Amino acid sequence: MTKYYISTFGCQMNVHDSEKMSGILKAEGYIEADSLRDADLVIFNTCSIRQKAEQKFFSELGRLKELKKRKPGLTIAVAGCIAQQEGKNILKRVPYVDHVMGPQNIHMVRDILKSNINTIAIDDNPLIADTELPVERKDEVRAWINIMYGCNNFCSYCIVPYTRGRERSRPSAAILHEIKGLAERGYGEVTLLGQNVNSYADDISFPELLKAVDKIEGIRRVRFVTSHPKDLSDDLILAIRDSEKVCEHIHLPLQSGSTKILSLMNRKYGYDDYIGKVDKLRKEIPGIAITSDIIAGFPDETVEDHRMTIKALHDIQFDGIFAFHYSVRAGTRAAVMEGQVEDHIKLSRLNEIFEVQNDISERKNKALLNSVQEILLEMPDEKNPKKMSGRTQTNKIVSVYFDKENATLKSGDLINVSIIKANRHSLEGIVKP
Ligand code: SAM
Ligand code: SF4
Repeated sequence: MTKYYISTFGCQMNVHDSEKMSGILKAEGYIEADSLRDADLVIFNTCSIRQKAEQKFFSELGRLKELKKRKPGLTIAVAGCIAQQEGKNILKRVPYVDHVMGPQNIHMVRDILKSNINTIAIDDNPLIADTELPVERKDEVRAWINIMYGCNNFCSYCIVPYTRGRERSRPSAAILHEIKGLAERGYGEVTLLGQNVNSYADDISFPELLKAVDKIEGIRRVRFVTSHPKDLSDDLILAIRDSEKVCEHIHLPLQSGSTKILSLMNRKYGYDDYIGKVDKLRKEIPGIAITSDIIAGFPDETVEDHRMTIKALHDIQFDGIFAFHYSVRAGTRAAVMEGQVEDHIKLSRLNEIFEVQNDISERKNKALLNSVQEILLEMPDEKNPKKMSGRTQTNKIVSVYFDKENATLKSGDLINVSIIKANRHSLEGIVKP
């Protein structure tokens, strides 16, 4: 029996694509190998969002050269965004790779792997949203569900619209059917997934989809990522407010506090528009957690622009951020812009961003000390049987400690926890008696 191993890099979209490839292979009778060295077939599901992710993949691929020499029957496939971008160049650069398939072609994984000749599958797939694939899920409590594919926004720094193609929404009936099936299998939390979920457009709008998911019996929590600020409508804010299970958390990437930089980034909103949306969210949903993405050192970013981003962090008080220094991506508009910022400046700005936000995140977490939070239990701790991890509604990670009397608690339980310790990026608590 053929053993496969999938090595996944990058975002949740890639993690979920890997779950689909795994679903297809298992349905074909393949079995999952415990490690890469034990596999007859290795798939790298790659990410090209930043240069660092790309370098990490190529160095891991390099390590397979010896293994392939010793095990000539080993099949190596490269999937994901680097596959889409590089196409047949990967075979030229790394001749021991057998197959290349972009993110729009993972449905063909079975046929590609059976082929005796090198395959390059990087065509646009207009049917991606209408193709239902089996999914082999890794998590037993939380499930991710694609509601749309691709992106039309062409932010000037971003490679995604080139690697994942045009925006295509999945039919709402298929999404709801999948989530009902997950509820029957005991999943407690679903996350609706897309590059820009709030531009979802099928027979119903995204706020209507959220309301429909909210009604599905058995599901306890509903989340969604990622939202683009330009498409955050009043209807969506009200749908979050009025739904029972939609969590009070939104990931709303700001990218920069300077309207000049936002315009160069082609984000289609200014800083004041963004603040207006944050105010509305907090007015309608007072406890909502807001997290964000920030890019440091975009072309033409002056010290003043950077100071505006620092001021934005102080003013908005995000619950958490992902921050990156700008990474040049060949083929994007920003790659050829004037005023590229030197690496050491990008890094020092990024460090300042982290320092400022770390204090804010810590202060926000400390404000939760002694409060009672509803936690969905996820993972038991392998080393400590009296500890499990879970999350608050607002998506903060909590280590939950319990005594013998709570020994019947298990993954998927929704429990009340008293917060006894607040760290910078996590909380600790005990089960409320
Ligand atoms: N569609 C989502 C959005 O708009 O937020 C996710 C896109 S991407 C996977 C996640 C984040 O990566 C972006 O929000 C941006 O901050 C960052 N990013 C994308 N391209 C980048 C680049 N060239 N350099 C640095 N960061 C980048
Ligand atoms: Fe990239 Fe912008 Fe699309 Fe997000 S919205 S995937 S940052 S182009």
